Amino acid sequence: MESFQSIAAYHQALAQGATTILQTTEAYLNRIQQYKAMNAYVEVFEQEALEQAIQQDQLIQSGTPLLPLQGVIVGIKDVLHYKGKAVTAASKMLAGYKATYHATAVERLLAAGAIIIGRQNCDEFAMGSSNEHSVYGPAQHPQYSDRVPGGSSGGSAAAVAANLCMVSLGSDTGGSVRQPADFCGIVGLKPSYGRVSRHGLIAYASSFDQIGIFSRTIEDAALLLQIIAGEDEWDSTVASWSVPNYVEELQQLKLDQKRKVAYIGSAVHHPSLDPAIKASFLKACSEFKALGHIVEEVHFPLLDYIVPTYYILTTAEASSNLSRYDGVRYGYRSQAPMPELSDLYVKSRSEGFGKEVQRRILLGTYVLSSGYYDAYFSKAQQVRRLLLNQVTDIFKNYDAIWMPTVPAPAWKMGEKSENPTDMYLADIFTVLANLTGLPAISLPLFKHGSGLPFGLQVMTNRGEELSLLSISSQLMAQMQR
Ligand code: GLN
Repeated sequence: MESFQSIAAYHQALAQGATTILQTTEAYLNRIQQYKAMNAYVEVFEQEALEQAIQQDQLIQSGTPLLPLQGVIVGIKDVLHYKGKAVTAASKMLAGYKATYHATAVERLLAAGAIIIGRQNCDEFAMGSSNEHSVYGPAQHPQYSDRVPGGSSGGSAAAVAANLCMVSLGSDTGGSVRQPADFCGIVGLKPSYGRVSRHGLIAYASSFDQIGIFSRTIEDAALLLQIIAGEDEWDSTVASWSVPNYVEELQQLKLDQKRKVAYIGSAVHHPSLDPAIKASFLKACSEFKALGHIVEEVHFPLLDYIVPTYYILTTAEASSNLSRYDGVRYGYRSQAPMPELSDLYVKSRSEGFGKEVQRRILLGTYVLSSGYYDAYFSKAQQVRRLLLNQVTDIFKNYDAIWMPTVPAPAWKMGEKSENPTDMYLADIFTVLANLTGLPAISLPLFKHGSGLPFGLQVMTNRGEELSLLSISSQLMAQMQR
């Protein structure tokens, strides 16, 4: 199958008549079929995709100018509502549930001409870092079938990397877009908290969740962001910031513009960091510096507190968000005998939720219970505030913060299944951006000795996606020279 370098290249091929949207859609459908074992998709919307493709081709034939995403093949994580289609958060709890409306992000993609080709595998309720906690079974790494693609948006990352769609949407509460992008060797962008509407995104932890983008290039991520970002009457947490024309701004970018970058010393010297990742990270820093940019190590004493803070606050929010799945209003209902009313709730929730989700609901309920609330929940909120103060201080002197995305490359399936804490600790570098609401991106810059790809993470101040994308373009251009 012909593979396009970018959306712009695909549009050029369409304009020249070198391909049609129908041909392209059919080719992607075939490829998805061919790579079924990867388990990246949990449902393919074949009929709708073909119908949309025919309509989109007719528009082109009638001479209508191309829409920004016309005919672009997009996959969506199984936490985003697409009207008329099942959406289950990879959980038995939502088996048979159908979306009655489009998520705002999905609606905006469709209005821009995109073709939504299917819903993609993920960890149950977006809780996990390996895509192993899914009612549909694990998704595989695109290059090594015995390894995980990362999580929770594992299917969406694997699909872009294996060219089973051009771009995809995932969600990032603590790294679920950046970490699988790092593992699979693609771009993963988490916008600032409040940049993109969460309407129609199944909630995990509402003060952390953001919809994010997987792509092969920064330009494609910029284009998608431009389309899905911005105010929405259905989500009052969306900021009223104007949305720049990121694509045009990037085209005008002067690659020699000088930047001030801080990297977190305690992250780079952290004992959990793989030595090859550390070496590549430091090499990128010194190469960037050699081009005349300022790159300096900064002190960040709270690094070891961020994983516990994240897991206290997100489980607390999850225990509240997931209380709606009670077997009464919607979702799975147990068929077991129920002598008492309470059995209905207990049995439905025990049978409907997987182990990891249950663990988090229990942990979240515990940290919110009277007697422990002050010791855990309030304390964690205080730490969250301190983290925000610290990053705000850094941004007084620097344009960006760099960190590795993940301490190690994609691990083997089952390797961390027995020890959930081990899996949680691997989120050490991604959760900071969610705790503080910063935009962050993982850039596919490196290869491990074993051949596994890994990335470098860039963060900028809240609302500054333009600077995030610009610095990322400079860094990619520099490293690819
Ligand atoms: N691995 C993290 C967790 O399990 C992040 C999940 C996410 O970003 N949705 O909570």
